[in-house]
Amino acid sequence: MNDTKLILVLADQLCTQQPALKAAVPGRDIIVMAEVAEEASYVRHNRHKIALLFSAMRHFKIELEAEGYQVEYLSFESGTPSLEAAVASVIARTEVSEVVICEPGEYRLLEQMKYFWSSALGKPVTLLEDDRFLASHNDFADWAKGKKQLRMEFFYRKMRERYQILMDAGEPAGGKWNYDADNRVGWRNQVEIPSRPDITPDEITASVIDLVNAEFPDNPGDLARFRLAVTRTDAERQFDWFVENALGDFGTYQDALVEESPWIFHGLISMYLNAGLLEPLAVCERAERAWREGKCSLSAAEGFIRQVLGWREYIRGIYWLLMPEYKTRNTLEATRPLPNYFWDADTEMRCLSRAIEQSLDHGYAHHIQRLMVIGNFALLAGLDVMEVCDWYLAVYVDAYEWVELPNTLGMALYGDNAVIASKPYAASGKYIQKQGNHCQQCRYKPTKVTGPDACPFNSLYWRFIDKHIDKFGNNPRMGLVVANWRKRDPDEREVIVSWADKMIEDWT
Ligand SMILES: Cc1cc2nc3c(=O)[nH]c(=O)nc-3n(C[C@H](O)[C@H](O)[C@H](O)COP(=O)(O)OP(=O)(O)OC[C@H]3O[C@@H](n4cnc5c(N)ncnc54)[C@H](O)[C@@H]3O)c2cc1C
Ligand code: SF4
Repeated sequence: MNDTKLILVLADQLCTQQPALKAAVPGRDIIVMAEVAEEASYVRHNRHKIALLFSAMRHFKIELEAEGYQVEYLSFESGTPSLEAAVASVIARTEVSEVVICEPGEYRLLEQMKYFWSSALGKPVTLLEDDRFLASHNDFADWAKGKKQLRMEFFYRKMRERYQILMDAGEPAGGKWNYDADNRVGWRNQVEIPSRPDITPDEITASVIDLVNAEFPDNPGDLARFRLAVTRTDAERQFDWFVENALGDFGTYQDALVEESPWIFHGLISMYLNAGLLEPLAVCERAERAWREGKCSLSAAEGFIRQVLGWREYIRGIYWLLMPEYKTRNTLEATRPLPNYFWDADTEMRCLSRAIEQSLDHGYAHHIQRLMVIGNFALLAGLDVMEVCDWYLAVYVDAYEWVELPNTLGMALYGDNAVIASKPYAASGKYIQKQGNHCQQCRYKPTKVTGPDACPFNSLYWRFIDKHIDKFGNNPRMGLVVANWRKRDPDEREVIVSWADKMIEDWT
């Protein structure tokens, strides 16, 4: 009996510890990897993302072959339209008994594989749960069961206990679960920002860059600035660099907005974690070790670990718990079309233009730029939820629907009926001024609410509160802001809202 299995490895499953590859037998099974048009173009992906994944896949193929696996690799030049077509073409010329896949990170693809592939391919299709994540679908569903509110903080504590990260004798290290209050310092050039080591593209990456520039001429992303690791070894080196040189200041300046540097002290590792080049538990353990060895403060290590062990797993849990209905939500009924400057950064709002420019050019913006600059603007201006989500999915090098959608629709746009955020992440120009130095370079004044030189975030903020006052009036975390707005002179309120109404046509 032929028991050769066809193992399909997706572009974000590039590690031998993923379940389909753990089950593979070198010499017996056939590994299929494919660069296909459908996945590369369902949104206008940043060229950095396509280049990273194609190059990392090509390097991973070589590693697998060195370990004795037979790999059928369909490059983009082969013109293979879809993953299903790739698998069908290999089945047509080989003898395989079954198709085995680690489940994809996107509901759309999972549905296709689960319900249509087997009959289309004429072979059984086995989907294995992706155990590279630290909370399984069942773990998360069990935790969520019966809870009125699904707050990340409580999930995070469970994860700390379960994996014994930053725990001492059953208690959180240092006596506190969370040092978030220490992580909000604004940027005033307090310390020097270390320059990041560059990686020179090797021959494989250079040829992928040429391919991507030729095949995706209208996509965002300046590949002359490509500096990403495309192998596990290089991704680990970049993470080592972060631990040694940036983790110490990561916590303190986590929320800082900085003119001079897109990444300041951030990890720049989401693209590697998401593609399988780094493992989440390993990076958390490494950060904990750095603290225990005295290389960084507890608040820095905790701040970092909370993002990976807490937020990353929680966000994924929400996605799989609530899809597909989750994607149809739009609590604040936001429908205004996305302004053109989301695609060229041509706006006089300095904070927004810097964040969009970096996102387009590098495929990267740090969390506070995504949440409190771009997301905040989209929220205040009432930009269309699905258009905004598609933009986020397109421009970032680390974007996959399981992580992009809850962050954008839920956290940034408050569109999921308060599942993720207990109050909207809405802020005026004052917050952006406090967190960094963009306002110094801006033609607008963060202290002014109306008038031609007034910061647009200010009147938009009050217009947003006014517009949704019925929704937020009973929210205890919004009580003070709503009360302050109500206390204002009605004529003054009218002037601010009318100004925002008038100007919104210019800004959006
Ligand atoms: C609107 C919006 C959209 C986002 N879209 C994505 C996305 O498509 N892909 C993505 O990986 N992250 C996304 N994030 C989360 C976060 O902004 C990025 O993970 C982070 O900026 C990546 O940069 P870094 O590696 O330097 O992160 P660091 O600041 O160094 O943080 C370390 C790691 O923590 C994890 N992390 C931190 N916050 C989150 C979070 N909210 N959700 C999931 N993981 C988190 C990431 O893996 C990150 O690499 C989004 C956030 C917002 C507000
Ligand atoms: S003044 Fe307003 S628009 Fe300009 S950088 Fe500051 S917050 Fe942004």
